[in-house]
Amino acid sequence: MVPRWVGRGPLRARDNLERARGYRVVVDLELLAETLAGEPPYRARQVWEWTAGGAASYAEMTNLPAALRAALQERVPFSSLEVAHEARSQDGTVKVLFRTRDGHPVESVLMRYRDGRRSVCLSSQSGCPLTCTFCATGQMRFRRNLTASEILDQALHFRRIEPIDHVVFMGMGEPMLNLDAVLDAARCLPDLGVTHRRTTISTVGWLPGLRRFVDEVDEPIRLALSLHAPTDALRSEIMPVNDRYPLDDVLAECARYAQLRGRKVFVEYVMLAGVNDGVEQAEELTRILDPKLFKVNLIPYNPTGMYDGSPRAAIARFKSVLDRSHIPATVRLTRGRDIAAACGQLAAA
Ligand code: SF4
Repeated sequence: MVPRWVGRGPLRARDNLERARGYRVVVDLELLAETLAGEPPYRARQVWEWTAGGAASYAEMTNLPAALRAALQERVPFSSLEVAHEARSQDGTVKVLFRTRDGHPVESVLMRYRDGRRSVCLSSQSGCPLTCTFCATGQMRFRRNLTASEILDQALHFRRIEPIDHVVFMGMGEPMLNLDAVLDAARCLPDLGVTHRRTTISTVGWLPGLRRFVDEVDEPIRLALSLHAPTDALRSEIMPVNDRYPLDDVLAECARYAQLRGRKVFVEYVMLAGVNDGVEQAEELTRILDPKLFKVNLIPYNPTGMYDGSPRAAIARFKSVLDRSHIPATVRLTRGRDIAAACGQLAAA
């Protein structure tokens, strides 16, 4: 059913639906339709433009009649999340713990870089069922998938602090287990200033979602693979998902993405001292990764009590093996370690 507020003629209805897409994701549609009944069809678009532009409340939406602003304020909740705690790192990183309306914890992070980039790391689930051994989220109880609205509301929270230009789906949860909601949210991000080319969805290799992502998503959204080990034996030890979806199958699907889209897949590789950081493992990696299809991001491990992070020299040695084989590789700049906001550290009670 097309809600009443989207306009009368077919063109106008489509136009307004399209422009208000984000608003359809972030608010309760029925409540919105009721509250905007009798209003001109462009109202929903106006509200969404304010929201996506960083307005902190309906009160700021000055091109809406005051009575309508008051009605919205009273009837349509502005966010599906409540801020429970906010921590700020010395390097400018901001980590926020939200609660959903039914009380589940969700964490997300705003990373500020010296070159001006503002990148937000979003969660797709509260907790995660996949229990990777090095990941703090994997050790907490899995609650549930987040709705598209709860995912987008994380980004909107940071957009209210300042303009953002990159989004990575690398927070709590496995995005491919909640792909529809993740995509609904991701498709709204350009309105917040984040283009699809600057949006990255990460996976540990959950094949059913990954296949759908490769086959069905037309937008130029980037793909990252959390690989972390170059052999099935080691990968299964630290990432139980590998028993279900082995390395060859996952890499083949990622290669299919790279070939179809003409875009390399980012391989995320967290450096665990004495576990996966040896020269032998780097050599294995050069055997399984095609430099034309993959580029590697080595991630200094952020302590969560389970492993030690590789020393700098080990990371440099590992990278030099990749360099010799012409596998493009970078070492990730760690942000927010002092507030447990860095990769693998997101967890909440
Ligand atoms: S690394 Fe990702 S998939 Fe693995 S437990 Fe953590 S959040 Fe889940």
